[in-house]
Amino acid sequence: MKIEFYKHNVGSGEIKLVEKVLRSLFLTTGSYVDELERSLASYFKTKYSVGLTSCTAALHLACIAAGVKSGDEVITTPMSFVATSNSIIMAGGIPVFVDVEGNTGNINAELIEKTITKKTRAIMPVHLYGQMVDMKKILAIAKKYKLAVIEDTAHSLEAKRDGIRPGQKSFGSCLSFYATKSITSAEGGAFVTNDKKAAKLITKLRSHGITSELAQRVRTGLKTYDVDVLGWKYNMDNVQAALLIPQINKIGQQWRTRERIARIYRKAFEETGINMPDEYKNSKHGRHIFPIWVAPKKRDKILDYINNKGIGAVINYPAIHLFTYYRKRFGYKTGTFPQAEKIAASEISLPLYSRLNEKEVSYIIKTVVDAVRKH
Ligand SMILES: *Cc1c(COP(=O)(O)O)cnc(C)c1O
Repeated sequence: MKIEFYKHNVGSGEIKLVEKVLRSLFLTTGSYVDELERSLASYFKTKYSVGLTSCTAALHLACIAAGVKSGDEVITTPMSFVATSNSIIMAGGIPVFVDVEGNTGNINAELIEKTITKKTRAIMPVHLYGQMVDMKKILAIAKKYKLAVIEDTAHSLEAKRDGIRPGQKSFGSCLSFYATKSITSAEGGAFVTNDKKAAKLITKLRSHGITSELAQRVRTGLKTYDVDVLGWKYNMDNVQAALLIPQINKIGQQWRTRERIARIYRKAFEETGINMPDEYKNSKHGRHIFPIWVAPKKRDKILDYINNKGIGAVINYPAIHLFTYYRKRFGYKTGTFPQAEKIAASEISLPLYSRLNEKEVSYIIKTVVDAVRKH
């Protein structure tokens, strides 16, 4: 059997809408992006949303909009995709890592306060694998020290914790529509927020700091524009938006399928003594990634065995602070963040997507259990 790590679920609705854009006059940022932005804001129950070319772009612009300047510090987690902390550096800031909870992989909110200095401007938590961090605690710390909270929501569109959804209470939440995410435009991202000033500024920063984008000038007859701030080239286009619009309505259905598969996995692995992250109470899991944790010394052999049986399992993630660039630039060493390092050494992500069928799920379970028993 051959089971891919991920299969997207782009269907005829998406293809039709993309075709409509391709046969129309306006390919770049325009009415389809506006429509997607309205849908996203409505999905998250936030006031605003801004379409961008990636989550990395959203994180980068959010740092700038939150006032991160050269040498400012942003507190974040070493257990994430490197885009998270890279975006801080792109904005001129310094990522300050805080270790994670050993039983979930999420940033340990208890450790945040003691890393705050005069230079701290923001906290950038990641809702890892689909579970939201303790936003109540993090928002309270942010309020006390007047810091912005920028959420990396690349894994957790569907998540909720303590009645809070991403983007509702923070400076803003950054979404990814990368090829393996729960909805996708191959590459793409967005920023959702209730903060009007942040939404306006990020809309300007996505197009070089230009005061009115082309579609707006066409609509209003404006002949020229000003640039009053340095921006980037991060505007989502109509083709990407058309790919995404029909997927918004499928988020719930696809999530329910992944939730069902995740429950089957959890039951089987609990019965066979395979470790997995704990799941919070009062929370809805986004079910983006399904991790298991095995003995670090055996992990690579177990992963090889699973891969050799045709299953596309991968590692999420190597700890960021131990990458060569981070070691060289910031002097990080092995042992600095023991919980993140332990997870990095023991994690295996299994396939989890709505197109997985029952036979495939059973085969994955059997193979994983065999792999762990044999090593
Ligand atoms: C995928 C991902 C990103 C980056 O998303 P892009 O849209 O590819 O820029 C950032 N953070 C996390 C946690 C991710 O998984």
